[in-house]
Amino acid sequence: MTTRAAVCRAAGEPLTLETLELRDPLPDEVLVEIRATGLCHSDLLQMEGSNAPFPFPVVPGHEGAGVVVACGSAVNSVEPGDHVVPLSIPECGTCAACCGGKTNLCEHFYASMGRAESPFSLNGKPIAAYASLGTFAQHVLVKEMNVARIPAEVPFDLACTVGCCVATGVGAVLYTARVEAGSSVVVIGLGGVGLNVVQGARMVGASRIIGVDTNPEREEAARRFGATDFINPLALDGDLVAAVQAMTGSGADYGFECVGNAKLSCQALEMVHPGGGVAVIVGMPPEGEHLPIPPESLFLGRTLVGSFLGNVKTRSQLPLLLEDYLAGRLDLASLVSHRLPLERINEGFDLMRRGESLRTVVTFPASQ
Ligand SMILES: [Zn+2]
Ligand SMILES: [Zn+2]
Repeated sequence: MTTRAAVCRAAGEPLTLETLELRDPLPDEVLVEIRATGLCHSDLLQMEGSNAPFPFPVVPGHEGAGVVVACGSAVNSVEPGDHVVPLSIPECGTCAACCGGKTNLCEHFYASMGRAESPFSLNGKPIAAYASLGTFAQHVLVKEMNVARIPAEVPFDLACTVGCCVATGVGAVLYTARVEAGSSVVVIGLGGVGLNVVQGARMVGASRIIGVDTNPEREEAARRFGATDFINPLALDGDLVAAVQAMTGSGADYGFECVGNAKLSCQALEMVHPGGGVAVIVGMPPEGEHLPIPPESLFLGRTLVGSFLGNVKTRSQLPLLLEDYLAGRLDLASLVSHRLPLERINEGFDLMRRGESLRTVVTFPASQ
């Protein structure tokens, strides 16, 4: 079959609309018609070539929601008509990771990371699928273990956000740090991910939630999602770490770095208190950078941990976030600031570069 997709042909080039070939599903694969996809900063990094794990040309996009339209012969947990979110991290349900309580990184994830084969092609030449998904295409092919079935009541343009920024942010609070009620929390970077750390912290009853961003316009959004305080480091008369320490006594209970910056990760660690403070690396780390951490910071009983997709198990736990939305505990509507058709997807990235959007979602009309 063929499908329409926004393709990045080379690093730094804008997306172009192409009609790609998509091969038939293998026995363990599911064909999903994407109905909405969020634009994430990781897509932009891939398109700019600055942190680009996939070869060009590539179909970016990894925050999609849609409908199952066909299943391979061995698929039995979803069927055509089901609403789903495709994910780069599988949940096979039987490996040690899936059966244990420590990580969402199913053993099959490591095997799929090196998978060069993409189901997309153009004129016989392969087109890579970012994150093994490529949700800037109207149709994607993914393994059954890489789709989460979601409640059909959630609109696609909100449901897609759980596929990356909501799971990454809220999950980091619930499943990585396991923040307790009454905790103090500092969140560095208030984009789509950071705002979801803020609302995750609000959900669990954190008593102080300090948002940090150099964009003063993020204060209003941060407070809407539950921040009790806002710091703009550029407007600060002095050191950011000292400011947080002054606000929290000896430091916050939890610090979340949501930018993907090594220096800020070190600062997040310094912002949490000795003897039990936990800093979490949530933002995608830049390639080739190192953390200059004084060992005594850790020796004094601080913990530094990483969190990939919020440590959310993709098939069993991710749909629970949409149950939280349906129950009114999670705000997805305030997150989606712009909606665009596929033809205008480049405008969405312009909004992102200028810091004017929280989340832009590209919507696809139903093909049937
Ligand atoms: Zn993302
Ligand atoms: Zn597994």
